[in-house]
Formats: sequence, C-alpha cells, structure tokens
Amino acid sequence: MHDFLKSLIEKNGPLDVGQFMALALGHPQFGYYMKQDPFGAHGDFTTAPEISQMFGEMVAAWILDVWQQMGAPELTLLECGPGRGTLMADIMRSLKNVPDFHGKTNIHLMEMSPVLKAMQGGILAAYEPQWHANFETVPSDRPVIVIANEFLDALPVRQLVKAKSGWDERVVALSGDEFVFKTRNLPFDISVAAKAGDIFEISPARSLFSTDIVEKMKDCGGGAALLIDYGHVESGVGDTLQALKKHEYVSPLKDVGDADITTHVDFFAAKQAAENAGGKVSGPVEQGEFLKKLGIGHRAETLKIKATDAQKFDIEKALQRLTDSSQMGSLFKVMGITYGQNLSLAGF
Ligand code: SAH
Repeated sequence: MHDFLKSLIEKNGPLDVGQFMALALGHPQFGYYMKQDPFGAHGDFTTAPEISQMFGEMVAAWILDVWQQMGAPELTLLECGPGRGTLMADIMRSLKNVPDFHGKTNIHLMEMSPVLKAMQGGILAAYEPQWHANFETVPSDRPVIVIANEFLDALPVRQLVKAKSGWDERVVALSGDEFVFKTRNLPFDISVAAKAGDIFEISPARSLFSTDIVEKMKDCGGGAALLIDYGHVESGVGDTLQALKKHEYVSPLKDVGDADITTHVDFFAAKQAAENAGGKVSGPVEQGEFLKKLGIGHRAETLKIKATDAQKFDIEKALQRLTDSSQMGSLFKVMGITYGQNLSLAGF
C-alpha cells in the first residue's frame, strides 16, 4: 500500500482526506477491509453485535415492530456493511418463531470486502443472501428495511481547515518516504463559525448514503432504516479522524491499509440529507437510551436466569458496555428514517 500511495501522490499530487480514506479502506488489493477480518479481541476493534447477542435481539425487536406496522408484507431486509454477519444472524435467529417472518423476508447485504462476504456467506447460508455494491441492484418490488451498524463511519470524509481568510483543505502529501498532512487552498467557501486552524469535516459520501436510502424507499413504496454509529448530534468543528490497530489508536498516516481509519459521524448532516430527500427522521438518540427503551435490561435479566455465575458476570458486563454513558451508551447514536408509510419507530 505504501508504495502504491507514494507513486500515486508523486504522479497526481496530494490526496484529499476523503480520497485517502477511500483508498486506505477500500483499495481492491491493499485496502484495509479488502484483506482481512478486522473484528474481535484478536483483531483491531470490536463492534456492538460482536460484544453481545442482546444487541441483535434489540434490533430484531425494532424490525419486528416496523414490519408489523407495515402489515407484515413480503420484505427486503438490507444490511449495509454487515462485517462478520453476526448482527443479521442474531436478528434472524431471534425472529425464527415469528409466523411468516422468515418466509416473507429476503436478505440483502451491501458489502465490498471479499473476506467479509465469505464470512457472511457462511454464517447466513440458510437465508441465501444476495450481495450488492450499491443501492441500484437492490430489488424495489417490496418495502425495504435498512440497517447499518458502524457503516457510516467508514465512508470517506474531507477535512476543511479554517485559514486566516476563507478555508483550506487538509491533504495527504509526501515528505521523503513519509506521508504528511498539508493544506491547500479550497476553491469554495463554507459558512461555519470557526477560528484559524479549526477543522470542519464534510462527507458527501455519507450524505449521499442517506439520500440513497430515501430514494430506495421511494422506489420500494415505503420503508424504514436504522443507522447506528459513533458521532455527534450537532455539526461542529473538530478533527475526529482516527486509526485503530489492535485496539490502540495509531497515526492515520502510518501502516496505511493495516489500520482501520474512520471519523465520527455528523448525524446532523445525515439527518439533513435524509430530510432533503423527503424522508422522515427519528432521533438521533443515544444508543444506551435506544437499547433501554427496547428492553435490553429485561432481556439481560431473562438471560441471567439460566446462566452460570461466570455467564451472569459476562451478561452484566456486556450490558454496561453497550448502554453505559462512560462506554458505548452515549458516544454511539441511533437514527431512524422512514418514508411513505405512517410508521412510528420504537426506541426514539
Ligand atoms: N456492521 C458490522 C461491521 C462494521 S465495520 C458490525 O457492526 O460488526 C464496516 C463494514 O462496512 C465492513 O463490513 C466493511 O467491509 C463494510 N464497508 C465499509 N465501507 C464500505 C463501502 N464503501 N461499501 C460496502 N461496504 C463497506
């Protein structure tokens, strides 16, 4: 990856942070997600569905409620960025006794990583999932429910830097053999309150994703979406670009392609994009609040009844991790989108 990026910059000049992120994560040969399974204790980071089945069970309860409000139709259930497939497997397992749900639901997955597609294909084989690179090929013949956990944070972001007058853009350039951040003039202006040196992050890719969801719901005659990620409810200045390797923060410019690179999600921007496209937005609310409203506390108590002491400890630990403000409970936000049907989303 290093040599590839180096020669690309030598040939074409510095990359904006969005171009850099897209290549670092998604280059067909060297991209981070294209090469490996990044999850779990032995990987680089752990996500909510990998922490506990309770997370998938709450999302399943949310889906069931929406589906029943829709009138229990034939359904497209689409997950974007399914990782190991754990969330979808937990959802389908918890809804297996719901009359008609399995029979009426087709599973669709939007995924770019061949390694993760293979894992998803294994764990979800019984449901015969279909894969997509984007929304275009997702069927439009029935209502759609879209779920995405920690997907938005992986979509590319550009970083604008307040200059003395106007704005610059942060770019990745070369200094000898090393990658370094530099700035170059931004040929357009934005109106954001900031002082010199402040960074403001914009993500056309994330806004487009929200828009695409609503457009797909329109084509499908209605639908609902649940987006879960770490981020903020209000737009604001701040550099949130981060890289994780083996559960430690590392420089985003080192080990490119071998560390996960993300930024926090600007949910205000995501909400605006969905609303501009005609969608109705619920939230965003904090993940802890969302999961508690869906009954994760009761679920933990039920699981504990038949558990050993060691298992009870693990259930309690997972519950804290998912819901506590000091852990994932507040940093992670949940946003719902609906279109076309008069749906009232649980958990908000
Ligand atoms: N939802 C999973 C995985 C989150 S990691 C979980 O919670 O465990 C991000 C996921 O999105 C990975 O599966 C990654 O391969 C996928 N991904 C990232 N960018 C993508 C893109 N542009 N198109 C399709 N999939 C993408």
